[in-house]
Amino acid sequence: MEKIGLFGGTFDPLHIGHMILAEAVREAWKLEEIWFIPSHLPPHKEKASVSGRDRMEMVRESISQNDKFKVCDLELLRGDKSYTLKTVRELKERYPDKKFFFIIGGDMVESLGSWYHIEELMEEVSFVGVNRPGYSFGTDYPVSKVEIPPLSISSSEIRERMERNLTIRYMVPEPVYFYIKRKGLYEHE
Ligand code: ATP
Repeated sequence: MEKIGLFGGTFDPLHIGHMILAEAVREAWKLEEIWFIPSHLPPHKEKASVSGRDRMEMVRESISQNDKFKVCDLELLRGDKSYTLKTVRELKERYPDKKFFFIIGGDMVESLGSWYHIEELMEEVSFVGVNRPGYSFGTDYPVSKVEIPPLSISSSEIRERMERNLTIRYMVPEPVYFYIKRKGLYEHE
């Protein structure tokens, strides 16, 4: 069975931490592909600050050179609250010949207890977590750990830097940098 890593996120915007962790997990778990899944309305977070179309386009442009990375528009098309349980069930139904792994960072590992129908979700898919600075990885649920070089970068930091007119160059993939500039995203109103 082909092993696929599912990587959900708001990607508001995509940053190099996302890219590095996806590649690290792909290698460590010998995954065939990683599918980036931009969320429509993340259950745990505020609404994204730019449109789904923009967030998805930034992912699409950034992964275009990597044939093992794909973008999946299922949550954006569904257009409701982006519950992982629903997403995983839909993908398993659509691709019965693939084995899925769900990839999360240390902050999400800690929050698993509050996820929608977490017990059922645990039955549906295996979780792979990566360390994230500032988070302990503490959880009552089975999550396999892939150790990555600690990356203290976040989308909120990128948005804050944009607000303060500070550079974000090289903190995001080059296509994201140019996309943000071109479209004037995250600029102070
Ligand atoms: P925000 O700062 O807006 O909360 P974020 O940087 O956490 O955003 P998301 O798109 O919400 O970005 O994250 C998608 C997934 O990537 C989550 O599972 C998150 O834990 C993980 N992740 C993001 N950045 C890192 C990082 N620097 N180290 C480890 N995991 C990360």
